[in-house]
Amino acid sequence: MAPMLRLYNTLTRQKAVFAPIDPSHVRMYACGPTVYDAAHIGNARPIIVFDLLFRLLRHLYGPAHVTYARNVTDVDDKINARAAARGITIRELTDGTLAGFHHDIRRLGVLMPEDVNVAGARPRFVEPRATDHIAEMIAIIEGLVAAGHAYVAAGHVLFDVPSMPDYGGLSKRPLDEMEAGARVEVAPYKRSPLDFVLWKPSKPGEPSWPSPCGLAEPGRPGWHIECSAMSWKHLGQTFDIHAGGIDLIFPHHENEVAQSRCCFSTDVMANVWLHNGFLQVEGEKMSKSLGNFITIRDVLKDWPGEVARLAMLKTHYRQPIDWTLRGLEEASRTLERWYGIVGDAPAGTIPAGVLEPLSDDLNTASALAELHRLDDPGSLKAGANLMGLLGETRSAREEGSIRAAGVDVSRVEALIEARRAARAAKDWAASDRVRDELLAMGVAVKDGKDGTTWSVAP
Ligand code: AMP
Ligand code: ZN
Repeated sequence: MAPMLRLYNTLTRQKAVFAPIDPSHVRMYACGPTVYDAAHIGNARPIIVFDLLFRLLRHLYGPAHVTYARNVTDVDDKINARAAARGITIRELTDGTLAGFHHDIRRLGVLMPEDVNVAGARPRFVEPRATDHIAEMIAIIEGLVAAGHAYVAAGHVLFDVPSMPDYGGLSKRPLDEMEAGARVEVAPYKRSPLDFVLWKPSKPGEPSWPSPCGLAEPGRPGWHIECSAMSWKHLGQTFDIHAGGIDLIFPHHENEVAQSRCCFSTDVMANVWLHNGFLQVEGEKMSKSLGNFITIRDVLKDWPGEVARLAMLKTHYRQPIDWTLRGLEEASRTLERWYGIVGDAPAGTIPAGVLEPLSDDLNTASALAELHRLDDPGSLKAGANLMGLLGETRSAREEGSIRAAGVDVSRVEALIEARRAARAAKDWAASDRVRDELLAMGVAVKDGKDGTTWSVAP
């Protein structure tokens, strides 16, 4: 029998057994990237961690019984400014950035919609974009105004925080503390300093849409409303799991909860809230000014995506993670060893020693420790596959690394043939010359009982 899944819930500050609202349909939402520029390696953390959870849920509940929505924020100040500076539309900018993002995360072993969706069936993985959900945002905003939870002021629509008696239940911050934080620069049209923007007027040149609530001027949505709209559209008024980075708890997730619950009159927006810890680089906060800002693409220039994925999963998702060269080197050595054990063997049964810790709030460190102990190729491969690792056969991987190293395979084969001929003629000097030429190309040859094999130095 499959183990019970337990998850740590930010809403209750407790680990509890996971029970989906609809036992035959698990629904999960994760806040995805703001696509204005190449994503950094910190952004890869929620992508990888919640991909692992998606894989685990699919295993536990069956692939047809899990729906995952991970949104794309494709309108915000940074996007608008950059598109304007380049003289292109925000759609042109975000289409390009999103394509690059997809290319990068695919190499991190992240499942993509096209990997899991089945023609003619309910989609299992959707990647909704904010600008495709303006109508849903407007419906929620108008619902909130009608219910007395939002008001129009100076061309804006604002959420009326004091109208929600239990506002703040997710972040559990005292009201006065939140107010003090918000009071730094309070717009004059806000009734309470905590009130937040649902809709605002667009400045000249900014993208705009017809405004809700009879406002004459066109405008654009605030940030938080997009996730209430997209989760509603794709998962329903209430759903099972809502995930994102720990920085999003307040105000983003708190405000999503306020919008969705007050619009739909529900007790919860999502039952379980998961938050990943932050990533820092070599012991320091990652930032452009410190010069230690690393994009996913930077990492992939030096390392196979699988190495980066394993390096990310070694730390429990809720802990802070220190991204180091040492961690990547270690992950690389581990994968070398595992590929050596697995060879071209097919996956066997997922070992309990991997499934159980993963089902315990994604205890990846224990699951990986079990993989280290395994010496049966089939179990090792099955356990690793569940974590999105050891996805290739040894042969395919060697082929891949040969291509990656830029080695001309037909040239290598010709040289090996020449070396074989030289050895057959007992021309050792010629044979050594050929071997040296191969070594200079980064190719090592080995003569074994089954003939000559060659590999590219890692
Ligand atoms: P953003 O594009 O900044 O909205 O972030 C997209 C996702 O990445 C959100 O879930 C953030 O919480 C998460 N995130 C951003 N920076 C980091 C970091 N340094 N470490 C871990 N997660 C991060
Ligand atoms: Zn969100």
